[in-house]
Amino acid sequence: MFDKILIANRGEIACRVIKTARRLGIRTVAVYSEADAGARHVRLADEAVLIGPAAARESYLVIERIIEAAQRTGAQAIHPGYGFLSENEAFCEACEAAGIVFIGPPVAAIRAMGSKSEAKKLMEQAGVPLTPGYHGDDQTPATLQREADAIGYPVLIKAAAGGGGKGMRRVECSADFLDALASCKREAASSFGDDHVLVEKYILRPRHIEIQVFGDSHGHAVYLFERDCSVQRRHQKVLEEAPAPGMTPERRAAMGRAAVEAARAVGYVGAGTVEFIAQQDGSFYFMEMNTRLQVEHPVTEMITGLDLVEWQLRVAAGEPLPLAQEQLALNGHALEARIYAEDPGKGFLPATGRLLHLAPPDEGLHVRVDTGVEEGDEITPHYDPMIAKLIVWDVNRDRALARMLQALADYRVAGVANNIEFLSRLTACPAFANADLDTGLIEREQAYLFPEASAPERDEWLALALAELLREQERAAATAARSADSSSPWHARDGWRMNAAPARSLIFRHGEAQKTLRVATLPGAFEITLDGVATTVSGSLNPRGLLRGEFGGRRLAATVVAAGERRHVFAHGRARVFACVDPLFFSGEGGGAEGGLLAPMPGKVIALLAAEGARVDKGAPLLILEAMKMEHTIAAPTAGTVKGFRFAVGDQVADGAELVEFDAA
Ligand code: ADP
Ligand code: ADP
Ligand code: MG
Repeated sequence: MFDKILIANRGEIACRVIKTARRLGIRTVAVYSEADAGARHVRLADEAVLIGPAAARESYLVIERIIEAAQRTGAQAIHPGYGFLSENEAFCEACEAAGIVFIGPPVAAIRAMGSKSEAKKLMEQAGVPLTPGYHGDDQTPATLQREADAIGYPVLIKAAAGGGGKGMRRVECSADFLDALASCKREAASSFGDDHVLVEKYILRPRHIEIQVFGDSHGHAVYLFERDCSVQRRHQKVLEEAPAPGMTPERRAAMGRAAVEAARAVGYVGAGTVEFIAQQDGSFYFMEMNTRLQVEHPVTEMITGLDLVEWQLRVAAGEPLPLAQEQLALNGHALEARIYAEDPGKGFLPATGRLLHLAPPDEGLHVRVDTGVEEGDEITPHYDPMIAKLIVWDVNRDRALARMLQALADYRVAGVANNIEFLSRLTACPAFANADLDTGLIEREQAYLFPEASAPERDEWLALALAELLREQERAAATAARSADSSSPWHARDGWRMNAAPARSLIFRHGEAQKTLRVATLPGAFEITLDGVATTVSGSLNPRGLLRGEFGGRRLAATVVAAGERRHVFAHGRARVFACVDPLFFSGEGGGAEGGLLAPMPGKVIALLAAEGARVDKGAPLLILEAMKMEHTIAAPTAGTVKGFRFAVGDQVADGAELVEFDAA
């Protein structure tokens, strides 16, 4: 076995590989870009080498830099992870030339499977069933169109060198073919540097079922059962599971044999995945082979009890496969959800930002979290926006689903838009729960997956207010502790103020809804009046925002994270963002100009909260400005009249611009 390996990747997969290496007593070398100097994979590794600037093509994709780092640190082998250089022939060859073991298949296997067209030709010879289509060399548009007509519409045009769901076009009829072909070729050329395409019959309501295979250098090859990855958005996997629901032992064996056949046909060594597209009647066709460890490999690990990275290391070191086919068995059911920094409501647009609060569920026998980030880290635009993979296991699918729902409800992320709530809806969605799977599930279930935004419940407003009050008390206590005269009434923590009744208001906003909560201080508790109903609340808040509250005798645990004016409330399995409306904020300095209220910093107007000509009370919120990714409420400095707004929603405003014409009369 190796003494030291280098991991030519970043993020969760680099951390994942380090974990196994450490368990096996193998030292690890991380490589990192300037953007990743403080990244988790760098912190976990025994050594780390800087390989270049943030852009992947100047760092993680520079073969010479990585080989050099391996030589300099004396690493005997390189694990490429997935993505980046994992399926790159030139990289594999460079390792060989440098006398470093590439932890992956032989270069010939990568080459054979690198082109979807060439792979299909090979599979045809090996007798593996293929998706009907054309994968020949003749790329003239007329030939391709003729082939598409013969296949019958709809068809799918695919970039032969494609990956990651890119470079595919569905075509409904012959008349649309040539335009789609041109656009597909353009995308293929720019994304993969190769505009070669193939044409396939578009399978209706298909499932994506893939087989994990493993080969060694002693001529053995086995399959480690299947994964169902049908739940996709933009042809990219979102939720994966093993085993595939409804799979019979006979079909599993048939698919497994076909996959092993495919691996043998290219002299495969190491971990690989043969992807099939399956029809609802169970018939299946070869789609492509990924010659690397797959993102979703943990579900296979959970049902087999094996560590696939350990197998990769053993095989790369020349050992035979640890188990033969008949020694492999599957147990229970596993699900994986990919937690992304993205906004599902905005077409899954990737998001960036700092992870202000990051609290994954507790790991154990049933829950596993593979991640490359920690609280305080930033999701940058340079790399894949995956935050983590959440994997759960239980004895059967229903119980695994329940585990997933619970783990997602416990997963708390603030600071960056993410898909956790979407994943919860997806897991709970009747179609998914009933295993009514196909690749169109997300699109078909839009109505369920994207419900109308619901209004916050009373508990959420109360939790928000209680956290605010407890945090205030905490601050007062800290001040008192620092002061010499800690018995001074100025430092009292019970809300007592000279000449003021011990009652006050807190104002919060959620979307367009705004609530004023009246607070009276009682001994060891507060009485909060909301919507005309008073509730006695008390509790404790820890520094991580965990709130243990008692609301009118009922206990509730929630998390309330403060970030500037924003309050992230996690309660009842939901995450919501509120804004704290401080009636005093900007009412003095900000609104000082003659009859006008000024922008405290450059930003964008995102809401106008009063009608022109309206009479408002002191402290009434008038306008919301988004600046530096935060929302700022501009409030009425005194009672008066809103004469007019100088900007409309969506307008960009300069620092100091007059926002509201206000008449203090
Ligand atoms: P799979 O078929 O295993 O789901 P994908 O094509 O979805 O494979 O995943 C591979 C993709 O993951 C790459 O194309 C790349 O965009 C992304 N990727 C590569 N390296 C990393 C990493 N370290 N962390 C997160 N994502 C990565
Ligand atoms: P990539 O290299 O991007 O992973 P694949 O060939 O594996 O490309 O296809 C990605 C996804 O596109 C599949 O998981 C499936 O959802 C869809 N797809 C691929 N081929 C077909 C087809 N012939 N008919 C219908 N859907 C397909
Ligand atoms: Mg694929």
